[in-house]
Amino acid sequence: MYKPVLGIPQNTIEILQKYNFSFQKKFGQNFLIDTHVLEKIIRAADIHEDDMVLEVGPGIGTMTQYLAKAAGKVVAVEIDKNLIPILSETLGGYGNVRIINEDVLKLDIPRLVEEENGGKPVKVVANLPYYITTPIIMGLFEEHVPIESITVMVQKEVADRMQTGPGNKDYGALSLAVQYYASPYIVANVPPNCFIPRPKVGSAVIRLTCHEHPPVDVADERLLFDIIRASFNQRRKTLANGLKNSDRLDFPKEIIMEAIERLGKGASVRGESLTLEEFAKLSNYLANSCGAIRK
Ligand code: SAM
Repeated sequence: MYKPVLGIPQNTIEILQKYNFSFQKKFGQNFLIDTHVLEKIIRAADIHEDDMVLEVGPGIGTMTQYLAKAAGKVVAVEIDKNLIPILSETLGGYGNVRIINEDVLKLDIPRLVEEENGGKPVKVVANLPYYITTPIIMGLFEEHVPIESITVMVQKEVADRMQTGPGNKDYGALSLAVQYYASPYIVANVPPNCFIPRPKVGSAVIRLTCHEHPPVDVADERLLFDIIRASFNQRRKTLANGLKNSDRLDFPKEIIMEAIERLGKGASVRGESLTLEEFAKLSNYLANSCGAIRK
C-alpha cells in the first residue's frame, strides 16, 4: 500500500520527480496540495461506504486516496496517459478504485453508471479541469446521468455564476441550467497557493445537490433551454428580439409578444430579469401556442 499522503506538498513533488512528470497546460493540470481543502471537499461530498463516486481527472490520485477510504467504489477518469503509471503506484493498494484512461467528454457515462453501480445514483467529486467545466457539468445533467450530488472545485467566477439569480451581472444560461437540475451551495473559496502549479484565477468548491424532480414543470425541456440560450445570446437586446433572432427557434413575433404579455411583462423586458419559473411559464405558453417550432 502506498503510504504518503499526497496533499502534502513534499510528497506530491517527490512522486512527480520520481516519474519525471511535466504538467500539461492544455489539460488544466493544477494539483491540490492542501490537506485542509481536501478534507473540506470530502466532508461536503458526504460520502458513505455504500456510495459509488465518479471522479473526473484524478491527477496523481491525491483526492482519490481520500475518496477510496470513504466510498464503496471509486471510478476515476483521467485523460493524460502519463499519469496512469503514477496512479497505479499511488492507488495500487486500494481494491475499490478503477481508473479509466479516457476523455470524460467522450465517455458514455450513463452506461458506465449502469455497469458499475446498477444504474443507482452516484456522487461526482472532482477538482475539475477548468477549461471544460461547463461541458462536463452540462453533459452530466443533459444526459440524465443518475447523480445524487456533484461536489467540485471550479473557477470562483463560474461558481458565482452557478449560484446567482436575476438582477446579478453573473446571471445567465449556466445559472438557470444548474438551478433547474440542482441546488447549488458554495462550500469554500480556495486561493491559488493551494495548487501546484498555481492557477491564475481564484477557485471555489461548489456542491450541487441534484433535484429528484425539477422545481418547475415544463412541457418541453429542450425548448426551455433553447429559449434560455436565445435570451442570453444577445444580452443587451430585449427578450422578444433575442427569441426572434434565435437560429434554433421560429416563433412568429406576435406569438412571442403575446407570450411575454401573458407573463405580465412589458415589451422591453430583458431575459436577464426573468426567474426560472418565468422562463418555464414562457416556454409552456410558447409550446402550447402553436406547437414548439424549431428551425
Ligand atoms: N484531482 C487532481 C488534484 O486535485 O490534484 C487533479 C486535478 S487537475 C485540476 C484536472 C485533472 O483533469 C488533470 O489530471 C487532467 O489531466 C485531467 N483532465 C483534463 N481534461 C480531461 C478530460 N477531458 N477527461 C478526463 N480528465 C481530464
